[in-house]
Parts: sequence; C-alpha cells; structure tokens
Amino acid sequence: MTSKPESSLVAPARLQDVPAPGDPRIDSIAPHVREIIRILGLSTETDPNLVDTDRRVAKMYLEIFSGLDEGTRPKLTTFPNDEHYTAMVMEKEIPFYSMCAHHFVPFYGHGHIAYIPNERIVGLSKLPRLLDFFARRPQLQERLTEQLAGVLEEELKPQGVMVVLEARHLCVEMRGVRKPGSVTVTSAIRGIFLQKTVREEFLDLLRRRG
Ligand SMILES: [Zn+2]
Repeated sequence: MTSKPESSLVAPARLQDVPAPGDPRIDSIAPHVREIIRILGLSTETDPNLVDTDRRVAKMYLEIFSGLDEGTRPKLTTFPNDEHYTAMVMEKEIPFYSMCAHHFVPFYGHGHIAYIPNERIVGLSKLPRLLDFFARRPQLQERLTEQLAGVLEEELKPQGVMVVLEARHLCVEMRGVRKPGSVTVTSAIRGIFLQKTVREEFLDLLRRRG
C-alpha cells in the first residue's frame, strides 16, 4: 500500500519543548557519543563539524525519545456521545516518525486510526498526538500499532478500534538486505472490527482520497 500525505484533516502533533535547557541527561549522554566518535577514528577537537556533535546527539535523543516520559503522554479528552453517533470515525494519513529499537535508526510513515464509538467520543486532534507520543521511543512497528489500539480501547471503551501503520524502515533500506522503498504494513484490530464487513468499510474509507 502506498500513501500520500493528506494533511488538511490532520492537526499537527504538538511539538514538545524537550529536552529542557540544562537537563542533566545531556551531560550524561554526551561523553558516550564522544567516545563512539573517537573509536570511529574521528576527532571532536579538530573537525569543526564534530565539536558539538556529542551534545547535539544527546539533545536529539532526549527529544525523539521523549515518549519514554509518561508525563508527556497526551491526556485523551473524551466527550459524551450525545448524538449517539455509531458509525466509523477515522483519522487517516497521520504522519509519524519513530526509531527502530533494534538499530536506533528511523522508521517513518503514516498511521490510520479508526474507531466506532459507544458512550464516549474523543477529540480528533488527540489521535495524532497519541501516535506521536508512542512513536517517540525506541519502538517496534508492531508494538506501536498495538499500543495505540490498546490505549484507545481502554480509555474510550468503543465498539471497536482499528489501527494501520505503513512505514519505511531505514534499517532495511540503508543496511542489511537493502530494499529501498519497501513499506511495512501492520494492523491492530479490536472489537467490532473483527467483523469482515466493518474492516472492509475501514479499507474503503482509507482508499477514498481527497
Ligand atoms: Zn531495525
């Protein structure tokens, strides 16, 4: 499956202001990065491009792994389903970036999240934020997919949830088997989405462009 960004319906994920300036973990991580650079035979003293790389990498890790801090988890604001809406709600083509836990290189792509409500509905901007939060940690695409479905099931208690992630893994493309452009697709299915007709409706909505 290929996908093109269709961002008009998607609220941008909140940019976390992390790490905070002076976060002591920057000083803890940086010497290790410096050591890796040294072992690779490079100099942080003579190469101006490498002088601050240790701290830059430390800050970057704290930023892209900010989802390890439960305190940054977005609160899922839910509302009573007063309209008794019982059809499918879908946010699709949500861009995300994560880091593969096996190699610490990026995997990235788009997420499609759908649910069919019961008593509660969720603010739509929360779905991209939730994906962003769980993506910001060393991850497996399979686990990320399941985590999203699990949290939505737990907190919304909907009739069902379905999450599909489509991603390119740089650990596959840049190294190892080197398969540029291949896309990994994962899905997590809960409740009413186990029924074939409901899954077909999901795929139908997914295919609809514009
Ligand atoms: Zn990997």
